[in-house]
Amino acid sequence: MPTQQTRFQNGSAAASASKDAEGFYEGIEVFARTELSSALFSGPDKSFPVNAWRLCGKRGIMGLPVSTEHGGCGFTALETAKCLEAIGYGCEDNGFITAICAHLLSCVVPLWQRGSAAQKEKYLPNLCNGEWVAGHVATEPTAGSDIFSMRTRAERRGDIYVINGDKAYCLSAPVADVYFVFANLAPDFSSNGITLFLVDRGTPGLELEHTVQKIGLKTATMGNLKLRNCQVPVTNRIGPEGSGTLIFHLAMRWERTLIIAPQVGTMRRTLEKAIAYARERHQFGQSIGKFQSVSNRLVDMKVRLELARLMLYHAAHVLDQGRRDSAEPSIAKLFLSEAALANHMDALRIHGAQGFTEDMEFGNDVTDTIGLTILSGTSDIQRQIIAKHLGL
Ligand SMILES: Cc1cc2nc3c(=O)[nH]c(=O)nc-3n(C[C@H](O)[C@H](O)[C@H](O)COP(=O)(O)OP(=O)(O)OC[C@H]3O[C@@H](n4cnc5c(N)ncnc54)[C@H](O)[C@@H]3O)c2cc1C
Repeated sequence: MPTQQTRFQNGSAAASASKDAEGFYEGIEVFARTELSSALFSGPDKSFPVNAWRLCGKRGIMGLPVSTEHGGCGFTALETAKCLEAIGYGCEDNGFITAICAHLLSCVVPLWQRGSAAQKEKYLPNLCNGEWVAGHVATEPTAGSDIFSMRTRAERRGDIYVINGDKAYCLSAPVADVYFVFANLAPDFSSNGITLFLVDRGTPGLELEHTVQKIGLKTATMGNLKLRNCQVPVTNRIGPEGSGTLIFHLAMRWERTLIIAPQVGTMRRTLEKAIAYARERHQFGQSIGKFQSVSNRLVDMKVRLELARLMLYHAAHVLDQGRRDSAEPSIAKLFLSEAALANHMDALRIHGAQGFTEDMEFGNDVTDTIGLTILSGTSDIQRQIIAKHLGL
């Protein structure tokens, strides 16, 4: 089984036995900029980049916080955050990185933390090594922010559950090998009946209803699913009956804390580009960076970046402490996604007409980041959660 040292075997990372040693995260950055980016760039047209996915699996990215005995790297949440930040700095494909994060944080982590020994043995190695893709299947056409009003029904019949319902907007649904499906066992649909099931691709009754065409995060595929008398063995239930809301909250703690981590790297890269452009672009006989309107924009970008990084590290540290009822995941998700969006808008504006062209990445960064303000609970919902923590 690979250890955290043999994973990430890449230049300076391989030389470093300690994650704190200088060069460790830079090694991940180099991997993301070189091997990963060229695997993504050379992939066949618009199809899912299986090679890049496998490459990340081999490097341990799909199992960063998972214990080594289950095929992961055994990193803390804080170390995971730093790795994801380094990947975001090195790789420009926000969609691909988001698909990885959703796979890791909303599927792999809950399975690792709440799955049975047999489930972990069967699924975790291939989910961590990049052989398989997982999809988190919760949202429904009529249950989005109000997720626990879901109407997908599971009914127990002996050794199986029969699941019926419609699911929407699930990342990786068109390509997933295993689906983490939330369904309700309670006849009155009360939230204490919500339960999580592993449903393998190809299970009769599970169908991709259609592939959703998004305006951003293009490399991440998305789909709606239909479950019609879909039979799932009892052994595929994760946790006890009715534990779905708790597992959902666990997944959201990880996802909200860490899914925007790569954007801290992206914000750093974008700021560097914007500073370089403001220095070299001249108008009215001087570099545009000398105009206070432009330099103030760059200063605001820098401040948002530094605050985002601090918030990310703090929220990851809180996650490492095992605190379950804290506002930090929502504060991190809200602040990081909105800060990233603001920075990408500013970078685009600083580049003028050039920033508005398809040659530059800023337009894609903006639309990609709008998606990040919606997934895992919209910014409005994060504010609602934070308000509750304030006793409101
Ligand atoms: C890129 C992307 C990836 C996604 N990936 C997945 C996935 O892998 N699996 C999955 O199950 N789902 C996924 N989703 C779905 C996502 O979780 C939902 O879109 C999100 O929770 C919002 O639900 P909704 O789209 O139905 O909007 P709605 O809940 O209908 O909200 C519409 C608007 O009303 C606001 N609103 C709603 N309720 C409140 C409230 N109480 N207070 C204030 N404002 C409110 C919202 O903020 C929003 O502006 C993804 C979505 C996106 C965009």
